[in-house]
Amino acid sequence: MKQPFVTPDQLRAITARYPTPFHLYDEKGIRETARKLQAAFAWNPGFREYFAVKATPTPAILKLLREEGCGADCSSLTELMLSDRCGFTGGEIMFSSNETPAEEFQLAAKLGATINLDDFTLIDGLQDAVGYIPETISCRFNPGGVFQLGASKEGFQVMDTPGDSKYGFTREQLFEGFRKLKAMGAKRFGIHAFLASNTLSNDYYPALAGILFQLAVDLERETGADVAFINLSGGVGIPYRPDQPENDIMAIGAGVRDQYESILVPAGMGDVAIFTELGRYLLGPNGCLVTTAIREKHTYKEYIGVDACAANLMRPAMYGAYHHITVMGKEDAPCDHKYDVVGSLCENNDKFAIDRMLPRIDRGDLLVLHDTGAHGFSMGYNYNGKLRSAELLLQADGGVRLIRRAETPEDYFATMVFD
Ligand SMILES: *Cc1c(COP(=O)(O)O)cnc(C)c1O
Repeated sequence: MKQPFVTPDQLRAITARYPTPFHLYDEKGIRETARKLQAAFAWNPGFREYFAVKATPTPAILKLLREEGCGADCSSLTELMLSDRCGFTGGEIMFSSNETPAEEFQLAAKLGATINLDDFTLIDGLQDAVGYIPETISCRFNPGGVFQLGASKEGFQVMDTPGDSKYGFTREQLFEGFRKLKAMGAKRFGIHAFLASNTLSNDYYPALAGILFQLAVDLERETGADVAFINLSGGVGIPYRPDQPENDIMAIGAGVRDQYESILVPAGMGDVAIFTELGRYLLGPNGCLVTTAIREKHTYKEYIGVDACAANLMRPAMYGAYHHITVMGKEDAPCDHKYDVVGSLCENNDKFAIDRMLPRIDRGDLLVLHDTGAHGFSMGYNYNGKLRSAELLLQADGGVRLIRRAETPEDYFATMVFD
């Protein structure tokens, strides 16, 4: 059973001070998850997690992760600016962008970030934008085709189609690209790939590592480029549904180590650093969206209207994503009511849950939508003039701190031109 990281009493005290809806994050959980990840890769002295800023672009969260030894993975101008303002410097910033505007390369280079090129043509693009090729450079690989793991009667454990994705160099382009970059002054090379999203399998990272490690060996041999790091990127998933298995990060780290020792070490490449760019795994379960049931409606179905909407959490509307719901204070009540839990947008996909069995919900009940800590608040938008909510941090000491205020109508009107 999924348990919220706050108790009903704690949450009542919080909502007495801060009106719903808001996103709430768990400092203790974030620190523990970051430490588990570090422990899983402690065998690799150069290991670093670059947190995917797009998952939770909030200064208090980024600073907390920096305290835990994480870097920042950015893909836009403002994410670079945000990371800079949060104290990340030089090699603590990874810049993994695509279709990159020149000004973004310029800021990344100025900050000394490690630039991860998405395409062969961006070699010249970077040279043109900043006037030189940095000594440390990374390239994103796309093996094409279909990536699948763990075939069974129920289907594949992991199945994605890199061949249909817009990211990365082909294998041939990577070899040519490394030669070209070397000739242009690059000295330390990295390889990056992101082949599947939200994987619930301890085999994804090891399988990806096997592919990238072999590629690194081939690249060093054929181009003479020094491969200094391999970036496994994001993609380690979380169980959004209560019946799904949780990944075992220690097993994942050990699986990557096996590949490292069987491929890189024998090739004399035992000094390669491993990088990750996890967003969802680090933050997802350590955040929730708290909302109040404000309306009920009985027509062809039973509806509960809440004060949050898809503008606060887009994943259900966008991907039909499941987010578990706990009705606070009714944890032990029977789930004998079938509801659609909906927001107030004039969009019929603004539904947090459809035909969900829940305890009887009364107006005023507090609902916790689980696992919104990554790609939750950050995907928010202003459709229908809805305002982004506040973000709160439940501190390790039990206190609660406002880490982003809610938008006000003034924020909404700030960019409008009336005359
Ligand atoms: C989105 C993204 C991530 C993080 O993905 P998660 O699913 O949150 O782990 C990491 N790297 C890059 C380049 C991304 O675009």
